[in-house]
Amino acid sequence: MHLSDFKKVFFEKLSDFYPETEVQSFYFLLTQHYLGKTRLDLALEPKYELLEEQRAQFQKALLRLKKYEPVQHILEETEFYGLRFKVSKNVLIPRPETEELVSWILEDLASEEKSIRILDIGSGSGCIPVSLAKNLNTAEVHSWDVSEEALKIAIFNAKINNVNIDFQLKDILKTEDLEQQYDLIVSNPPYVRNLEKKEMHSNVLDHEPELALYVDDKNALIFYRKISELAAKNLKTGGSLYFEINQYLGKETLRLVQGFGFEAELKKDIFGNDRMLKAIRINGGEL
Ligand code: GLN
Repeated sequence: MHLSDFKKVFFEKLSDFYPETEVQSFYFLLTQHYLGKTRLDLALEPKYELLEEQRAQFQKALLRLKKYEPVQHILEETEFYGLRFKVSKNVLIPRPETEELVSWILEDLASEEKSIRILDIGSGSGCIPVSLAKNLNTAEVHSWDVSEEALKIAIFNAKINNVNIDFQLKDILKTEDLEQQYDLIVSNPPYVRNLEKKEMHSNVLDHEPELALYVDDKNALIFYRKISELAAKNLKTGGSLYFEINQYLGKETLRLVQGFGFEAELKKDIFGNDRMLKAIRINGGEL
């Protein structure tokens, strides 16, 4: 079968399920992954012939996409900050807004010369600690997660990206003390309220880990409160705390963090939503 014939079928079959631009992006991700061909390669080979097993692979992917399985689960990997990450149903698929958070941190650290100690809370796939470690050669990076399954993936991702990270299995909500002083603490904790589930697509709702995503409607800032409280004690003076946040709770999250004695600011993502928060520890002592 010619790839171009399969392409027609692929677009037709998925047109009821996704917008065309999304189908297009799936198609090129799959051809890159299964055939090792870029979009340009394919344009130069209009008569590319699919082997039977390749056709079967594409067919399988097509059926999974029709069930709204995320394409990253089908490929078992994704790209984040220019790096390759393995993903599974046990970790949140790295999001572009989290890349914006990493960019913000790296911009702020661009002129930093000393070696700094970083703690990331909620490793997930490891996208935050791995991309920070990759871009900050001298940093000492620690990362904690409550899920053993997630840690296995994060450890694998640190390995394939050649970085050294101290990963630990810990439940931050049950942590009394961070044990050492850090220059920087970062977290993208669960922050989606149940009441927001109606805005979400089935590829997220049915396929991504609840543990990484949702919080109780009545206690949506639970992780921010706990982490700010710990950071107020274990961030060095002048140290910084970065969060990815719920876009609807920007002001509340800002107030909460300020309440722990931090100087804090919000930052919007490329869609204009309050999505990130930075806080600096200005006081020297505990509150
Ligand atoms: N931004 C993610 C989403 O919308 C949520 C990430 C999180 O809960 N930390 O699916």
